[in-house]
Amino acid sequence: MKLQNTLNNYKVITFLTQNCNYKVITARCFIYTLCLLFLLFIHLPVRAFELLTPVREGQLVYGRLAPDERLYVDGQLLHNGEQSDRYQIPVNEDGLFVLGIPQDAAQHLTVFLENKQGIVPKHIAVDRVHWKEDIVNGLPAGKVSPDTKAQKRIVDEALLLQKARQSSDGAFFPETWILPVAQYTRISSPFGSRRVLNGTKKAGHSGTDFAAPTGTAVVAPADGRVKVVHPDMFYTGKTILIDHGQGVFSSYSHLSEINVTENQVVKQGDVIGAVGMTGRSTGPHLHFAVTWFGVRVNPEFLFEDALKK
Ligand SMILES: [Zn+2]
Repeated sequence: MKLQNTLNNYKVITFLTQNCNYKVITARCFIYTLCLLFLLFIHLPVRAFELLTPVREGQLVYGRLAPDERLYVDGQLLHNGEQSDRYQIPVNEDGLFVLGIPQDAAQHLTVFLENKQGIVPKHIAVDRVHWKEDIVNGLPAGKVSPDTKAQKRIVDEALLLQKARQSSDGAFFPETWILPVAQYTRISSPFGSRRVLNGTKKAGHSGTDFAAPTGTAVVAPADGRVKVVHPDMFYTGKTILIDHGQGVFSSYSHLSEINVTENQVVKQGDVIGAVGMTGRSTGPHLHFAVTWFGVRVNPEFLFEDALKK
C-alpha cells in the first residue's frame, strides 16, 4: 500500500514536472518569437511607398516615401517632357510628396519606384469622376474663335506659364490652405466642368470660379513665391502665378488689381490682388487654378472643409 502510494505520487510528480517543462518551453518559444519579430522589425524600413489620399481624376494625391526610395513619372504626365523622359518627384524632409492626377487620366497610372531592389513600375488605379457640363453663351465671337494674331498671343502666353511651372522651389504641405476670396458670393463654375462656349464643346474647366464683386480682396491661400505677374493675358487678363514648392502652383485670373511683383515671397493671407473681369470673362469673378507642374487639379479638394461651411 505504501509502495502503491509512493508510485502514485511519483506519477503525479512526473506529470507535473512534464507539464511544467511544456509550459516553460511554450513560454520560451513565445519570448524567442517576440525577440525575432523585434529584430526583424528594427531591420525593416520604418515606412515604404504609400499613398495617403484617394486617387481620383483631377486630384492632388498625397503620398510618402521611405528615406531610401525615389519616385519617378514619365515626362508626359508632368506635361513638360516626352513620355521617354523620366522625372524624379520632389519629396520634402518628412518623405512626403504630391502627385497630380490629370482630369482625363487613364484608368491606371504608372509611376516608377526606385529602392534597393532597383526600379519597379507601380500601377495605381484611378477612380472616375462625373464632370458637370456647363453651357455659356453670349461671349464675343472674337474671343471664342480667336483670329491668327490672337492665336499667336495665346500660344506665347501659354508657353510663358508652362515654362514658369517647370521648376518649383520650396516645401509644399502647409497645414491647411485658406480660400483666396473669403468674401465670394458663390462658386459660379466648379473645376472640371465641360464648357460649351457659344455651342462649341471645350476642355474641362481648368479651375474654380469664385464670383465676387470687382475690387474684393484676393489673398494667397498658402505660402509661396510669386513666379509670374502678367498685366494682360488674352484669356485671363491680369494674372498671377504662385509657386508653393514640390511642383504645386496656384494662379489667379481676371484680376482688376495686382499688388505683388515677380519673385516676391508671400505668406498665407497676404493680399495679392483684387477680383475683376479682365481678359475673357462674362462677369467679375476669380478664376483660381491649381496645377502640379503642368497637370490641372481640382482646387476645391484643398478647401473641402471650408467649402462645406
Ligand atoms: Zn474659370
